[in-house]
Amino acid sequence: MSLTTVHTVADLRMTIANWRADGLRVALVPTMGALHDGHISLTELARAHADRVIVSIFVNPTQFAPNEDFGAYPRTLPDDQKLLDAAGVDLCFAPSVDEMYPDGFATKVHVDGNMTNVLCGAARPGHFDGVAQVVTKLLLQALPDCAIFGQKDYQQLMVIRRFSADLNIPVEIIGAEILREQDGLAMSSRNRYLSQQERAIAPTLNRVLVSITDQAAKGADIGPLLAKGREDILAAGFDPIDYLEIRDAQTLELIRDTISKPARIFVAARLGKARLIDNHAIMPAHITG
Ligand code: AMP
Repeated sequence: MSLTTVHTVADLRMTIANWRADGLRVALVPTMGALHDGHISLTELARAHADRVIVSIFVNPTQFAPNEDFGAYPRTLPDDQKLLDAAGVDLCFAPSVDEMYPDGFATKVHVDGNMTNVLCGAARPGHFDGVAQVVTKLLLQALPDCAIFGQKDYQQLMVIRRFSADLNIPVEIIGAEILREQDGLAMSSRNRYLSQQERAIAPTLNRVLVSITDQAAKGADIGPLLAKGREDILAAGFDPIDYLEIRDAQTLELIRDTISKPARIFVAARLGKARLIDNHAIMPAHITG
């Protein structure tokens, strides 16, 4: 295996210092492991931007609420290492919880405002504080030239862009397209929670988003579209729907009537043990032509 795995910040920094001495560009892809092709597509984008690619694997306890799936979250490091090796990734950084949050740890990173009090911020209080905390640490530990994040977690990407600009973290934040299964389901580590029957139902989420996106882009009134979308999602067996909303693609402000600027439709809904999220860009027809 040509993939190297390190577990401490000191070893991470030593490896990167050697690369820096050779004048190499470095990219970081933060993940929570249980890797799938969506993660691998991020490493390919990373490779296009850098000479060396690091994937971090850390299931971050501070972004899970006590009632969430921190304990159950799949941990599959040996399989992940095989995938990363096959993908030509150079370094896997897999720290322990103690390495990231040693005794005495007392610092929080909080991103205020509309970016964090809507969508998953409203449905998962404290979640984005945990994300901001761990991603700030990872960016400062590795100080890569760039870091890659998926649009699968679009709100997370916007939050990360916000605090890295606000805190002058000298890392370029790059967003990556959502990778989907053949039937349209967005790839996710949490898809492993789905039973066979639930897996057959799951693509409904994407189908509803595509249908609303097409009609909203042509100027249809979005109220009735969202009402019908909610009905279809519930009828398929999802329950509850945390949100199904259309928001401004930049500010995440709620859009209620029709689309006149680049927007995004967001959904989060529970199916059995899995809480699935997805989103799509909506470009008004007068912009796309
Ligand atoms: P996670 O391991 O779920 O925390 O995800 C790690 C990174 O991979 C995040 O930046 C996600 O947005 C991204 N990601 C997860 N699923 C996908 C997907 N289906 N397509 C593209 N990126 C993804």
